[in-house]
Amino acid sequence: MVGASLYCLNGTDETLQMFQRVVLCFNETFHPEGRVLKAKGVDLASLFRFQPEEGRIWLKDYRMVMMSACALGALRRELIETLGMEQARGAMKRFGHAAGLADAHALAERFPDATPEQHLDFGPALHGLEGVANIVRDPEKTRIDLENGHLHVEAHWQHSYEAEQHLELFGLSDEPVCWTLAGYATGHSSSAAGDRTIVVETECKAMGHERCRFVLDYARNMPEETKREEPDYQKQHLPEVLQGLFDKVNRQELLAREGERRISNLEDELASYRVSPDFIGDSPRFEAALKTASSVAHVDATVLVLGESGTGKELLARHVHERSLRRDRAFVAVNCSALPETLQEAELFGYAKGAFTGASAPTAGVFEAAHKGTLFLDEIGDLSLTAQTKILRALQEGEVKRLGEARTRKVDVRIVAATNKDLKAMVRENTFREDLFYRLNVITVTMPPLRERGVDRFHLAAHFLERFAAQFSKPLRELSCDARAAIGAYAWPGNVRELQHAIERGVILAAGREVTLADLPEELSGLGGGPSRSSSTQTGGTTAEEDTQLANIAGEEARIRKALELSNGNRERVAAMLGWSRTTLWRRMKKYSQLEN
Ligand SMILES: [Zn+2]
Repeated sequence: MVGASLYCLNGTDETLQMFQRVVLCFNETFHPEGRVLKAKGVDLASLFRFQPEEGRIWLKDYRMVMMSACALGALRRELIETLGMEQARGAMKRFGHAAGLADAHALAERFPDATPEQHLDFGPALHGLEGVANIVRDPEKTRIDLENGHLHVEAHWQHSYEAEQHLELFGLSDEPVCWTLAGYATGHSSSAAGDRTIVVETECKAMGHERCRFVLDYARNMPEETKREEPDYQKQHLPEVLQGLFDKVNRQELLAREGERRISNLEDELASYRVSPDFIGDSPRFEAALKTASSVAHVDATVLVLGESGTGKELLARHVHERSLRRDRAFVAVNCSALPETLQEAELFGYAKGAFTGASAPTAGVFEAAHKGTLFLDEIGDLSLTAQTKILRALQEGEVKRLGEARTRKVDVRIVAATNKDLKAMVRENTFREDLFYRLNVITVTMPPLRERGVDRFHLAAHFLERFAAQFSKPLRELSCDARAAIGAYAWPGNVRELQHAIERGVILAAGREVTLADLPEELSGLGGGPSRSSSTQTGGTTAEEDTQLANIAGEEARIRKALELSNGNRERVAAMLGWSRTTLWRRMKKYSQLEN
């Protein structure tokens, strides 16, 4: 027997076991009585003994099995799909290695006197006989002189069954795929040469190359390739392979979970900076409001948000809530102006069953709903005096009583209130409780009207355009020049909300890739490039009715106050109503400083 291969799979017993399962293919051109393949004078075909009546084929004393290449292809596919490319490659190389080794052993037993060079020739001949491929050596680049320590073969496999199968099953590959062939040549040549050899496929038809080329040499002469190939020839138990795969999956899962956690953290961080995508702007007045709100958010004090309708007072309240320690609890918003006076108390404090007609079940009010969280009372100036009294008590005592109930319930609620009314004036007119006003007026944040937010209107317009274009699936890109000019000139008495509705309408009506002035509401037309003061009652001058009301008021201070009330605090309109410039209005308001707010 020729020297044992260093790649031997853990001893002879196991090799033999593997060998008994070796599957080989004969191609059709071979016929036992026909063509005779010879390796340097040895009739190799005669070595095969066929015993069809017993269902056995022999090569010397080693049993062989004939099987279709398709079946081997199916096995290949199973391995690749079950274990992945890397594991399948290793398994098939070791399979080929066992076959090469077994053939070498069979021939060594049959021809104990053959030289190692002869044995090296047996391998390719036998492999050809078995229908695996035809080996064509390149004589120029091949040198076999074992006695003097030379062994270098460069050759190609013609008609590799493996490249054919792989191409058919998987298409082009990005690595060589003649794994069993390389394994066979490595096993056989190591055994024949009596030293450790390595066979590396350098080009493969399955990669689109013209031929499947390979190099055979002593492992010591190709240290880099040997190191790279080594893992493929190391035996691996399936449970270990599977464990390795499980570990890999687990690691990936951990990484994925870590990634998700980080994304979620970043989202939280982002959310704490910005409660709504609509809450954007970088004008000084907007940023000042945001800064004040952010700095008082964690203090748990009551916050009073002032500003005209549509300026985003609720978004500011949410901003306070999201940056407070109560952020994980409820944020409950109530628009007091939407509640009829008769229902205000029931909505705020809840009621017992039968407390009034229609009270069919005990119901909690918004104070209870916002327990431990934040209660946003919008348009608080519209509450009845009775409701105001009860809110004051709830704030002072930290408890509420449902309508029709005698017992009180503890509530821990942070109030953010908002109004577009002049509460001080209401206090003077006894329509708003003074003690509640001071209770609410601890920290005041004023949301600036849109017309005082400079270029924010364009940022917001662009933002809404993008949002609505996506919502209505429109291929819109931008605002036309005239639309931009009108947006810049218009006074936006309805503020951000009005702008949002205008852009929404514009997006719906727009026919091309632009929203033009014609797509925007009529109020904006005729303003392109012009001054923001128009004759419209919404933006500038007074109506006849307002004129009459103002004319009936004696005293400058009272007139200013009335104008503020009529205009919902819109100073631009106040200035227009009184026929003053904004600077004059500002100077006179400063004079009556109690009007400030
Ligand atoms: Zn190949």
